[in-house]
Amino acid sequence: MDSLQGFPSERDDAGGSHSPRSQPIVGNPAAARHAPVVGPADTSLFHTSHPRRTAARQRPVRYAGSRMPVCTICDGVGLVRVVDSAGRWVSRPCRCQEMEREERRLAAAHIPERYRHYTLDGYETAFRGAHPSLAQAHLTARKFVDAYPVDTAGKGLLFTGSIGVGKTHLAVGVLRRLIQERGAHGLFCDYRELLKNIQNSYNPQVSTTELELLKPVFAAEVLVLDDLGAQKPNEWVWDTVALILNTRYNDKQTTIITTNYPDLPAGGGGLTEVERAAREPTLGDRIGDRMRSRLAEMCVRVEMTGEDFRQTVKRARFG
Ligand code: ADP
Repeated sequence: MDSLQGFPSERDDAGGSHSPRSQPIVGNPAAARHAPVVGPADTSLFHTSHPRRTAARQRPVRYAGSRMPVCTICDGVGLVRVVDSAGRWVSRPCRCQEMEREERRLAAAHIPERYRHYTLDGYETAFRGAHPSLAQAHLTARKFVDAYPVDTAGKGLLFTGSIGVGKTHLAVGVLRRLIQERGAHGLFCDYRELLKNIQNSYNPQVSTTELELLKPVFAAEVLVLDDLGAQKPNEWVWDTVALILNTRYNDKQTTIITTNYPDLPAGGGGLTEVERAAREPTLGDRIGDRMRSRLAEMCVRVEMTGEDFRQTVKRARFG
């Protein structure tokens, strides 16, 4: 597997650096000619001294019959008037337009509701007994975001470790940041659920086809494939995993993977029946050695060691 060589050094991003997002938004192109005046420079888009906007902030306007709130900067026009460097008044897209696009990209990523709080900033590394590999994994995740897309060159991340060490948390944290800060189009995909849905699609009573299910998985600029290997392996599972990974590899798309299985070859070759039965299954056992070496080409490996955060840290805190 690759080391992190080639990734730029850590950027200080504590606290998150994306644009202010406290303002509710909606566009209303019909009202474009009434673009509110915001000036005198781009940096003052969120000027608060304008009496109209101050009032709007306190009491967001809503369209009758709609539950969508209106941007309190441009009043839903989508444009603001600013003074450019030559001193002329010009119309510019309001910042709410980018925020709206970002919200749409986030929604399209289908991050499950239960993972809403999984962010890079929310990932802890300094709790009592924290294994150093967790801080290293966090750093790698942050560096990856900073390096994306130029210096990551189509590579992804492979988070390995036992249950509850925070693999999914980091993977989702990276995905979220890439969507918000890098404008990436991403998709979260639960491996077991995907395979189950594909199997289901063979049922003639189900209208969704296998290709319809796989298309977004192939096409996502950034794919999080969560819990790789969780499905009991058989020929069909191996072929399906191979199809997904090979397609993404050939297209040089970024794939971020989590797995509870140690990144070791399929075992048992030289072992006795008893030794084989006693041994923990490996990633090679679950997805096949060919796909495991494909992953080595596609991803930077991030090994995480530790206890289940829910059982230790959370329980200690909340009793
Ligand atoms: P894994 O994918 O490794 O099985 P998860 O990422 O789903 O584990 O983490 C399980 C729970 O513990 C989640 O609620 C997650 O937010 C939390 N968690 C795990 N590690 C950390 C951490 N270092 N800091 C904050 N929360 C954590």
